[in-house]
Amino acid sequence: MAESKHFIENFIDKDLEEGVYDHVQTRFPPEPNGYLHIGHAKSIILNSTMAQEYGGKFNLRFDDTNPTKEKTEFVESIKEDVKWLGADWEDRLFFASNYFDKMYEAAEKLILKGVAYVSDLTAEEIKQYRGDYNTPGKNDPSRDRSVEENLQMFRDMKAGKYADGEKTLRAKIDMASPNINMRDPIIYRVAHMTHHNTGDKWCIYPMYDFAHPLEDAFEGITHSLCTLEFEDHRPLYDWFVKEVGFEMPPRQIEFAKLYLKNVVTGKRYIKKLVETGVVDGWDDPRLVSIAALRRRGFTPKSIRDFVIMSGISKAQSIADYAALEYCIREDLKPSVPRMMAVIDPIKLVIDNYPEGKTEMLPIVNNAENEELGSREIPFGKEIFIERDDFMEEPPKKYFRLFPGNEVRLMGAYFVTAVSCEKDADGNVTVVHCTYDPETKGGNSPDGRKVKGTIHWVSAADAVPVEVRLYENLIDEDKANEMDSIYDENGELYLNPNSLAVKKAYVEPALKDAKAFDRFQFVRQGFFCVDYKDSKEGAPVFNRIVSLKSSFVLPKQD
Ligand code: ATP
Ligand code: MG
Repeated sequence: MAESKHFIENFIDKDLEEGVYDHVQTRFPPEPNGYLHIGHAKSIILNSTMAQEYGGKFNLRFDDTNPTKEKTEFVESIKEDVKWLGADWEDRLFFASNYFDKMYEAAEKLILKGVAYVSDLTAEEIKQYRGDYNTPGKNDPSRDRSVEENLQMFRDMKAGKYADGEKTLRAKIDMASPNINMRDPIIYRVAHMTHHNTGDKWCIYPMYDFAHPLEDAFEGITHSLCTLEFEDHRPLYDWFVKEVGFEMPPRQIEFAKLYLKNVVTGKRYIKKLVETGVVDGWDDPRLVSIAALRRRGFTPKSIRDFVIMSGISKAQSIADYAALEYCIREDLKPSVPRMMAVIDPIKLVIDNYPEGKTEMLPIVNNAENEELGSREIPFGKEIFIERDDFMEEPPKKYFRLFPGNEVRLMGAYFVTAVSCEKDADGNVTVVHCTYDPETKGGNSPDGRKVKGTIHWVSAADAVPVEVRLYENLIDEDKANEMDSIYDENGELYLNPNSLAVKKAYVEPALKDAKAFDRFQFVRQGFFCVDYKDSKEGAPVFNRIVSLKSSFVLPKQD
């Protein structure tokens, strides 16, 4: 499929053509305050593929300038997720906090140039002085301090002579700017806090708008790709790199965030679900954190395909989870074995099959992919079938088992239902049938056709396993009706059926499935062995996605 270039590639092409840069260097700059999610995957994939496509480099940089919140646990999980997605930072793993010295020097430079000053205003006063969209700001009374005095006071800030909030360093730009970000933004604040990396060395910390462009510039980033909320900050980004005086200032380009309809994305919101115990940790397979998607069984390729399919643009849009499901199905359809598992079993007894006999029947592993070979599955007198593959009184167009009807047991024989046994409540417990020994392999020599083919597992050899079926965490009907996933109290519309745990029977070959092994269970969906809860010989299977889809591939224009 020939894809046209997106707007970021056009920018890069132009920059290279005009000689603004002679190479490409990008970065992914996460704040280590939570686990990454599918939205971050978009940024990671975009940044790393731009570097790859243009023969450039990609950095992973932890934006840890804020001394609160950061945790080593998050640093480790982020590294794992970025690597898993296939983005390679090689030896370029950086921490913004390692640039604190250089940032401090840059701030002194601005003071010496007369474009930064120490302010005596409190945070509240600064806010008042800033004005709003309709009112220009007022100049800070400290705005015209001499360079010498500013330098001394800034050094005193660093030396710990002031209490938290007592002084700030501000950029001297324009209090009347229509862009509020340009109204003398704060560069440094006093905060007597211990930093996870620099300890107690600093009691002043740089603000994001100052730190971020400098981090990019220090690392020689050419294209700083970020999300749309930073668009209004770009003039400030450019101002800082210009005033600090970098030879090759990076270019900030904004793109639209990835959102999923009726899915909780934002880090903060996922965190709340974890902390309130709605889900069972950051990697609960119902979440769209990268760790959760991985655990559920999504592949890096499916996430990549999904991100690319959703498009890179400036126009805000909301992607469909069904598109992600489409991508994983497409990836797994030809690449994993198709096995049989009965998730809601009832017993089928073949009355005319010899007692005590077991046959090994050959079956191909994936009809679309010869390379996956074949296997043999045991067949016997008693097998398990899905409860809903038998009906005593079928409705019209029901082609599966009912008394008198013949169906194919996949890869085995034709069987005809004869009767059933029921419990006291009228639930079917056992179905009796007869088989036609001439139909071995699932075809009739006399050309007789059957309309239904059902899957099965030999009762004598079946392995009982736990299977987990998922639905959206959100009650989609409610969310669609209210046009929000939150009710008026800010609580999510939760789907009580988002997790169903089943005792299923699977073919013996699945007994030794290992963590992250993926299979299609015919007629049921794609499944992945849970890496946390599986035990040797007792795999737990997460359903990644069912086979049915209402998703229509968008037209390419
Ligand atoms: P969240 O909005 O979920 O709290 P964040 O933006 O605070 O995430 P950061 O660690 O600051 O998280 O983000 C790292 C990078 O990922 C930033 O460049 C940010 O723009 C990008 N990013 C975050 N969310 C998305 C998203 N939904 N789609 C695309 N990129 C995103
Ligand atoms: Mg953030």
